[in-house]
Amino acid sequence: MPSYVNQPNGIFPAVCSLDCPDQCGLLIHKIDEKIVAINGDPQHPVTNGSICNKVRHMAERIYDPKRLKTPLKRIGAKGEGKFEPISWEEAMATITSHWKELMATHGPESILPYSFYGNMGRLNAEAMDMRFFHRLGASQLDRTICASAGSKGYNYTMGSNYGVDPEDTVEAKLIVMWGINAVSTNMHQVILAEKARKNGAYIVVIDVHKNQTSRWADWFIPILPGTDSALALGLMHILFAESMVNTTFLEQYTVGYEELREHVKQYDPVTVSAITGVPVDDIYRLARLYGQTSPAFIRIGNGIQHHDNGGMCVRTLACLPALTGQWLVRGGGAIKGNSAYLEFNKQALQRPDLLQNKQTRTINMNLIGSALLELDPPILSMYVYNSNPLLVAPEGNKVRRGMAREDLFTVVHDLFLTETALYADLVLPATSSFENEDFYSSYWHHYIQIQQPVIEKYGESKSNVEVFRLLAKGMGYEDSVFDDSEADMIRQALDYPRNTYLAGIDYETLVEKQYMKAQIKSHFLNNLVTPSGKIELYSKAMEEAGYPPLPTYTPLIEQGNYPYLFVPGPNHNFLNSTFANNAKQIAMEKPLRLYMHSADALAASIEDGDTVRIWNDRGECELIVSVGDTVLPGVVITQGLWVDSPGAKQAVNLLTPDRIADMGGGATFFSGRVDVATIHHPSIQPI
Ligand code: SF4
Repeated sequence: MPSYVNQPNGIFPAVCSLDCPDQCGLLIHKIDEKIVAINGDPQHPVTNGSICNKVRHMAERIYDPKRLKTPLKRIGAKGEGKFEPISWEEAMATITSHWKELMATHGPESILPYSFYGNMGRLNAEAMDMRFFHRLGASQLDRTICASAGSKGYNYTMGSNYGVDPEDTVEAKLIVMWGINAVSTNMHQVILAEKARKNGAYIVVIDVHKNQTSRWADWFIPILPGTDSALALGLMHILFAESMVNTTFLEQYTVGYEELREHVKQYDPVTVSAITGVPVDDIYRLARLYGQTSPAFIRIGNGIQHHDNGGMCVRTLACLPALTGQWLVRGGGAIKGNSAYLEFNKQALQRPDLLQNKQTRTINMNLIGSALLELDPPILSMYVYNSNPLLVAPEGNKVRRGMAREDLFTVVHDLFLTETALYADLVLPATSSFENEDFYSSYWHHYIQIQQPVIEKYGESKSNVEVFRLLAKGMGYEDSVFDDSEADMIRQALDYPRNTYLAGIDYETLVEKQYMKAQIKSHFLNNLVTPSGKIELYSKAMEEAGYPPLPTYTPLIEQGNYPYLFVPGPNHNFLNSTFANNAKQIAMEKPLRLYMHSADALAASIEDGDTVRIWNDRGECELIVSVGDTVLPGVVITQGLWVDSPGAKQAVNLLTPDRIADMGGGATFFSGRVDVATIHHPSIQPI
């Protein structure tokens, strides 16, 4: 295995492992074996030397004194935080003996792995772990918490996760950032847009919050949460009515445009304005801007899919570039996700054949709280890695109650004693991504990258790959797949002739070059994998699955009982719950606020700076309120997943619903409702 660990001083290439579309190339500066600085790699063709503050200060997280050094065994009550160090031998023996007993008495499906992309390295996120749990026959986790609703919806229109090359978007003359706080979550799309702006591009942001991205726009269009598909349908209404569609493109590359033309007549601007909160004149202006500007590029954000109607919403937005033929214009089109270009050999990496055709149950990760409390037969052991469900999963109180069950044997593998780890029976110390060999494939740009170990493993920490090798041994599995090295697995993943975009990309060349671009020889429109081979404005597949075959607006499910729609978006200095426990990033981030419109605040006798209680049937939080015009009336917004610190109740996912979105088993974080009331006016001093 190539490695830089034995070189105590120097500058070494690396990749950002966070769940961020940009997947930056990095340079790690080492002195006396320790990381002293992390910079962007100026040679990286897309990220080009700039990185965010989160990762610029990553070394402080890596050497944070709170980082775990040894395995721990719980010696207090669940949640109490009392642990004692144990050896890896004892930890592995405890886990494997417990699991062997569970398998004998309750079957392997009593064991559930729970993970997501806390580390985007493909080996450590979804390789040896998958092999192990397939071999074991454990319950399977449907990893639906982020992009599954939108991907399903997008794929109904476009077939797969193909969008345009972000490097081309510098040529756009109109850029629409739709439901994405890109300044905080896709900063290189903003840098590319800035270049386009210097060449005359006009930037529109459509969002529920006047956040950093909205303030950076040339034109910010505030919209009510969950109504984006209605706005897109209103734009289509005007594009057809005012003959701004590209009929040649529609005839050659789409099916169903005539049905769509009839269908969108019902979405006139007055009707759409009443649904979305966007003024009629603005709907006309946006439609004409979009219909008359070329190249016109839309960045479809993750936010809009976290609604009851999220799948259909993304499916609808994906139709817009087809109406104007923008998919074929360099610099135009859209990006929802680009993961299909770098699709690798998952079968070889994850070995589902090890299941030997056993039909194991699958549990939607958005329902983890209910699953822990209600499933019959029950989950009796949970193994958590690359995630922190107590903070990130919806219905947080259900998750907490489920994890507090005395009969649940929980193991958490993490860098820190997270909120979830406090409920574990055993906690295992995890390596950081700079301590592992792994490969990375972006879901935004078109580059695959490799990471070789740069620093020694911290304390006794181990990577996911190593731990699952040990667990396989402990369980007595002799299959050779558990002996594969990291390099073996990367070779297997890249050996995938089915994906012609990977042609010429292999392990040895990747080690030599550090990053390689997908080989795109022909436009993805020539190889669409929809049933018709065309962009499906009308989808028979949707009809057969019980959905409306044409793009449609459906109102959110939760109505009425509580006055405000609640949207807990991302913040600038954390990535989900990563960094929420690191002093540097906490200090860089503004304290958590609840943003509320001044008319709502006035009606509820709430003043700017008050401490307010936010509640619904699911739970409650206490935050400082920021009153103003950054949200529309009827909407309240927070940013970031914060830990409950002493005296502060700020775990916002206590309030979010675990309803399932219309498609893909997706999450509905942004479709819940809350009430808000003042607990304390700072201006009123207690007597
Ligand atoms: S979090 Fe995103 S922007 Fe920041 S360094 Fe990582 S990939 Fe780049």
